[in-house]
Amino acid sequence: GIAVMADMNAILLEILELLRHQPDYRRIDVVTTLKEDLPRVLGDPSGLRQVCMNLLVNAHQAIAGAGRVAVTTEIAGDTAISITIRDTGPGIAPDMLDRIWDPFFTTKEVGKGVGLGLALTFDIIKRHGGEIHAESRLGEGSLFTVILPACDR
Ligand code: ADP
Ligand code: MG
Repeated sequence: GIAVMADMNAILLEILELLRHQPDYRRIDVVTTLKEDLPRVLGDPSGLRQVCMNLLVNAHQAIAGAGRVAVTTEIAGDTAISITIRDTGPGIAPDMLDRIWDPFFTTKEVGKGVGLGLALTFDIIKRHGGEIHAESRLGEGSLFTVILPACDR
């Protein structure tokens, strides 16, 4: 698709607003710490929206019942931005951390996921010249970090 200057803060807030209205997620406390005047990202807006949607839906789905999702944006070095999405879900077992990026890897029941979200997310981030990492501790939650080249800085 065509590349435009995307405001990742606006995209994140737009998706969080959609998720806020889902009855299943009523007891999830969402905390945002978004950098003011965050440099924009040159890219495919629907792909970048898909990335945020996948990560935020995973974080919400990981929390069965009550918990917290923390979203931050920051300037990263001279020419990039970072987005972090942290949840207080069950976490990811160390031996699964490498497999979550594989197409069709899912631990969800039929109908909740087909295991394509993170594979797609990884591809979109790579296409934008960025990076994505996952860290997790069982019983404590997960942290996904996205780094994207920024343009108006
Ligand atoms: P899906 O959500 O359809 O299962 P994804 O590619 O989005 O597919 O994620 C793959 C798998 O990675 C999930 O089924 C889950 O096991 C694990 N995963 C992803 N995000 C999280 C998270 N925030 N907390 C715990 N597990 C996660
Ligand atoms: Mg998913």
